[in-house]
Amino acid sequence: MRTLIVAEYVRDALESVRAAKTLGSDKVLLLAFGPTALEAENLSGLVDKVYALSSRNPESVYNSLRSIYEEEEPGLIIGVVSKNVKDALSRLAGAYDLPMSTEVVEVSVEGDSVKYRRGILSERAYSVEKVPMPAIILLNPRVFEPEEAKPGGEVVKLEEGNTRVKSIGISRKQLSGVKLEEAEIVVGVGRGFKKKEDLKLAFDLAELLGGQVGGSRPIAADFKWLPEDAWIGISGKRISPKLYMAIGISGAPQHMSAVMGSKVIVAVNKDKNAPIFKQADYGVVADLYQFLPILIKKIRERKG
Ligand SMILES: Cc1cc2nc3c(=O)[nH]c(=O)nc-3n(C[C@H](O)[C@H](O)[C@H](O)COP(=O)(O)OP(=O)(O)OC[C@H]3O[C@@H](n4cnc5c(N)ncnc54)[C@H](O)[C@@H]3O)c2cc1C
Repeated sequence: MRTLIVAEYVRDALESVRAAKTLGSDKVLLLAFGPTALEAENLSGLVDKVYALSSRNPESVYNSLRSIYEEEEPGLIIGVVSKNVKDALSRLAGAYDLPMSTEVVEVSVEGDSVKYRRGILSERAYSVEKVPMPAIILLNPRVFEPEEAKPGGEVVKLEEGNTRVKSIGISRKQLSGVKLEEAEIVVGVGRGFKKKEDLKLAFDLAELLGGQVGGSRPIAADFKWLPEDAWIGISGKRISPKLYMAIGISGAPQHMSAVMGSKVIVAVNKDKNAPIFKQADYGVVADLYQFLPILIKKIRERKG
């Protein structure tokens, strides 16, 4: 079986090589694009051939992918998910009518088919599925241990070529440097807060508790009241603190699935029927504007 790996990041390439070997591939090709292309020489000893494309232009990645696919006819095309890998592989799946599966956490080859387990319902459940090859499998990160890099193999350099997508500028994200993944206490803020200045209540509470502030998607992504690295959820950060205090957050699955690793979840919501109360360990039915000042005052008194 021939396997074509598509990788934007080096660690993803190393994990995918392990996956390809575990699945019994007899020929492994690697399309290394973007930052991984810079490491092409160092990775080349692990596979039969590396195609190095320094661009991460999605159209250019897809064009390269398509020509390798046509030339090599791999049975399996795999990658660890990243935005650009997903983009390129979706195009390939559409163009050649290939089955494509995402969020895969376990995979095996059975004859001419691939069997895998993948997360569904915001990863609250798993579905076991089987598709005929050729097929595209997008792995979640860290499903496979990374291989050690090894130089000494063949590298073919690819050109970006003509594309309709032109990069006309890159700007820095606004980041706070907050490491929510490592915090022991996280105060989560949601749309229950009416304006940005009111988040001061959450910051005061977090400071007293020695914690960090994170937010639901509307707060971080839509209103931009918090930097993007404070965004909690399936499209943001996954957290597993000792204490998660969710304040004015309704408890949507896309938020909750990323906080379920918390030891204790306390929810503050003025709606007693808010879905979050079904998943919280402790629930406070209260208006946050009344409850937080009292809580902050009480903690201050206790601390002297
Ligand atoms: C593909 C996709 C990906 C997504 N990814 C994410 C993600 O990564 N992270 C994420 O968070 N969401 C994500 N979402 C959005 C998600 O579905 C919800 O819309 C979002 O989590 C809701 O945010 P919220 O709880 O802050 O707001 P709301 O759902 O509006 O809830 C606000 C809550 O505040 C309560 N409230 C209002 N006023 C007060 C008050 N004065 N005191 C106390 N409580 C009050 C209300 O009763 C309500 O329950 C995603 C959605 C999609 C479709």
